[in-house]
Amino acid sequence: MIFQSAGWRIRVLLSATSKIYNSAEQIITFAAMSGNSETKDFRAIIDRHFKALENCNLCPRRCGANRLKAATGFCKSGSGFHIASICSHKGEEPVISGTHGICNVFFGNCNLQCRYCQNWQISKNTKAEEIEILRLETVLERIISLLNQGCESVGFVSPSHFIPHVKVIIDALRLIGHNPIFVYNSNGYDSVEQLNSLEGYIDVYLPDFKYADPELAKELSGVKDYPEMALAALKEMFRQKGSTLQLNEKGIAENGMVVRHLILPGYVQNSLEVLRLLSYHLSESVAVSLMSQYWPTPAMESHASLNRTLDVKEYDQVVKEMENLGFYKGWVQELESSTHYRPDFSSEHPFER
Ligand code: SF4
Repeated sequence: MIFQSAGWRIRVLLSATSKIYNSAEQIITFAAMSGNSETKDFRAIIDRHFKALENCNLCPRRCGANRLKAATGFCKSGSGFHIASICSHKGEEPVISGTHGICNVFFGNCNLQCRYCQNWQISKNTKAEEIEILRLETVLERIISLLNQGCESVGFVSPSHFIPHVKVIIDALRLIGHNPIFVYNSNGYDSVEQLNSLEGYIDVYLPDFKYADPELAKELSGVKDYPEMALAALKEMFRQKGSTLQLNEKGIAENGMVVRHLILPGYVQNSLEVLRLLSYHLSESVAVSLMSQYWPTPAMESHASLNRTLDVKEYDQVVKEMENLGFYKGWVQELESSTHYRPDFSSEHPFER
């Protein structure tokens, strides 16, 4: 099936990090207005979650940066809500998007920095200063507006370096009476300890599993330990969710996990090994989303093999291995999907051409 596209938009708003604390007052006001009688001190909740930013080991890079003071870690992210966009997205897997789209919260910067990143306009750390910081109440207002328009899920995209922020958003939404399905959509380079702390927060895990080959991971994403770290992260997600993907009455995933893999042109062997590792270490009963939408971004135009889209022979080889290994749950993108998925985030409607 071909995933549909939906318009995104880069939001650029200015606000000081310290404004987060003003937001706590706002949440308490929201809670009171919603008839919530709880008298929780929301500032204490923020403090508790943000403590992890003092000596940041949120992701496997383990920089130890004090993000409450400065954005000196690899991800160039401080303590603010660095959010590039909050919008309804209909282009995810059908069980993730549903009819109305998922309310996706796209965190800016990234803890991985893949050379070929398909969302390079909002993920590059070199552009970190261009992703402004939103106030918590702005984040909540936008999410609630999309929930009121029919979105049933909230997806946190590239959240690995913003887990305290994810928890604050979820706690705040729940406090004011909203409990949508929460989806964790990451690049797979996650900390097991942090994932463990998300148990009870996240309903659906939607991680990538990009590489089985450490050398390739080093070459394209700068981290040789990606296969090891991602596999450990996937095992923790699998421990929490198992292989059952529970759907609600509308066919939207409300509990479970889906593993994504983007096939890279010229690197079929890596894809075959990824599937074999998944089968061996997790289960062939886990839901898999095999993606063929790769397209060369400007940075890849002169790369020896990533300067083109996937060819039919490569595609068939990976799909066949998926079948041979016995995976039976999930989605395979049609080969033509690379022509449908070429977002331009400098446009008001990045997916509309
Ligand atoms: S989240 Fe950012 S600062 Fe923290 S360990 Fe990872 S890259 Fe470093």
